[in-house]
Amino acid sequence: MEREAIVALDKARVWHPYTAMERYIAEGDPIVAASAEGPWITDLDGHRYFDANSAWWTANLGHRHPRLVAALVEQAASLTHVAYGDCVHEQAASLASELCAIAPEGLSRVFFTDDGSTAVEAAVKLCAQLHRQRGAARSRFVALSGAFHGETTGATSLGGIEAFTRPFDAVRFEVVRVPTPAEAASGAGWERAFGEVERAFSQHGGDIAAVVIEPIVQGAAGMLVHPPGYLRAVRDLTRRHGALLVADEVFTGLYRTGARWACDLAGVAPDLMCLSKSLSSGVLPFGAVLASDAVFEGFHGGRDRAFLYGHTYFGNPLGCAVARAALRVYRDEDIPARVARSAPIIAARFAEMARRDDVTAHRAIGMIGALDLGAEGYLSDEGRRVFDAARRRGVCLRPLGDTVYVTPPLNTSEADLRWLLDVVEESLDEALSRR
Ligand SMILES: *Cc1c(COP(=O)(O)O)cnc(C)c1O
Repeated sequence: MEREAIVALDKARVWHPYTAMERYIAEGDPIVAASAEGPWITDLDGHRYFDANSAWWTANLGHRHPRLVAALVEQAASLTHVAYGDCVHEQAASLASELCAIAPEGLSRVFFTDDGSTAVEAAVKLCAQLHRQRGAARSRFVALSGAFHGETTGATSLGGIEAFTRPFDAVRFEVVRVPTPAEAASGAGWERAFGEVERAFSQHGGDIAAVVIEPIVQGAAGMLVHPPGYLRAVRDLTRRHGALLVADEVFTGLYRTGARWACDLAGVAPDLMCLSKSLSSGVLPFGAVLASDAVFEGFHGGRDRAFLYGHTYFGNPLGCAVARAALRVYRDEDIPARVARSAPIIAARFAEMARRDDVTAHRAIGMIGALDLGAEGYLSDEGRRVFDAARRRGVCLRPLGDTVYVTPPLNTSEADLRWLLDVVEESLDEALSRR
């Protein structure tokens, strides 16, 4: 099919995510992807674009990693899906065991889901049911301002980015909202933000089911980074009050921050940990919730105490096979060492770019670099202008409102990474000189 025909069909029938469709239909000029390999997307006319956000933070090993593709093809030749429960299979059993072997201490059970939102949704329900079965139902969840935990209604209730949540206020459950501890947002140390969590517990103590948090990096908020001390303090506080700590590592999990889990940076083990994006590394939708022994044992007993919850594609063998291959690649290609080499390059360049007058803040951790252009937040057009300038240079640099950031594949070569950062700087030059 020709490019124009595809775009016409798309504009006639597809409703895009996160998109003002009327404007897109009138003036949108999308990249029509034909193939992708490593960090590169190739369009129908043969132009290459570096995928600076790794397909929305999923393709941590690059697009179509040959070992992941091989695992998918091999699995598809024998078993694509069975209903889990009456049937079990090697892929799910082995993946669960392999995940527990590398999980933060105490996480010893795996509940599979379809994606990140459903992992968070399952975690919320696990918390609610667990407290009820321990004898005292608890109705409140604590979540951060700027939080993003997905798009199902429960996950949206936890969400703290107004542009995403406001339209659904009528159907969201109430959450105890505490300020983000990220210095870029609060301008203060984390202790003050933690004081607000303490206040929430002294006010609602026995009714708080869990604190749900994106550990260390709040991705969708604009890559806001907070110090490990905050996470440790929240862990201690939740323990003291018999509340659970849910770590949403859908974005941070598997070395994005440099550590295997962002929780590791604080030496913290949560009660529940949500995984998705990097787990199947951009090959297909897949997710999981890891739970501690104590959480699991809270569901022992008869059917009336069981977790009567599940998704149709629970433990999908294709997803499991790809995730197992990904775990092997993270190990065999020594991804942590590669991130350790690349992280200082990203950090140094973002610090340099932050010297510009028009950059109001910046941060970097692991394979994440971000800077703010100080415009009106998520709905601003500023980042979009940088995107257009980068696209002309062969980089797909999707912004988060006025936050320009890179989250490239973790195995990006040093030469490609340096080139990418050059393009980010040139694109800022071009976009900002014209405002
Ligand atoms: C993307 C994301 C989700 C939602 O995952 P989906 O697969 O899009 O449903 C949840 N939590 C965090 C931290 C995320 O970044």
